Amino acid sequence: MKVAANLNVIQEKIGQACERSGRNPEDITVIGVTKYVTIERTKEAIDAGIKNLGENRNEGLLEKYLHFGNQAIWHFIGTLQTRKVKDVIDKIDVLHSLDRISLAKELNKRADSPVDCFIQVNVSGEESKHGMDPEEVIPFIEQVQTYEHIHIIGLMTMAPHIEDPERIRTVFRNLAELRDTVKSKKLSYAPCEYLSMGMSNDYEIAIEEGATHIRIGSKLVGS
Ligand SMILES: *Cc1c(COP(=O)(O)O)cnc(C)c1O
Repeated sequence: MKVAANLNVIQEKIGQACERSGRNPEDITVIGVTKYVTIERTKEAIDAGIKNLGENRNEGLLEKYLHFGNQAIWHFIGTLQTRKVKDVIDKIDVLHSLDRISLAKELNKRADSPVDCFIQVNVSGEESKHGMDPEEVIPFIEQVQTYEHIHIIGLMTMAPHIEDPERIRTVFRNLAELRDTVKSKKLSYAPCEYLSMGMSNDYEIAIEEGATHIRIGSKLVGS
């Protein structure tokens, strides 16, 4: 399938999910996750009008960035090793996987302007999932207050690989509640307005629960 055709289907479903939940489709950013696909397929995505691209490994990010530069807004969505920060810091626009103080420290040291970050939260408590525990989020935010280059724009999570949509919904709902708690503190360095949640198999549920950034790979560009 052409990326443009896939995008049409996804936009249709975004519209329906927004209708069900009284939201505005303009408040949803679609991030095209290109980690599985070639430069050619990525170009097709850009040509289809996708402005936001996501990569989960620094090699992939660097390869795509070298080709497309500022034709896209670059989202780093995978685990970022502390020693790799210096390679990607001047190329990424948004980091979705801030999950530990050592990473915040290195970002703060290497960046020369504030970096927009989502804190990755392991809501479901699955052993295999990255991200911090929900109860660690507020202490973490207090800890980075003095880090002038860390700007917390929201929270990110990955739902567990399960069939039960109501359990997935609970994960997203819990993240939204935590986002509301942080947002209500009105911290200038951590406005925490956004929710990065929802992938190919669960983005409609995520939108119903308040997602502002959905990360779609296989159903948009392919796997
Ligand atoms: C791969 C990946 C996605 C996209 O996954 P699909 O199921 O192919 O849409 C989204 N978020 C993260 C963090 C990923 O690693």
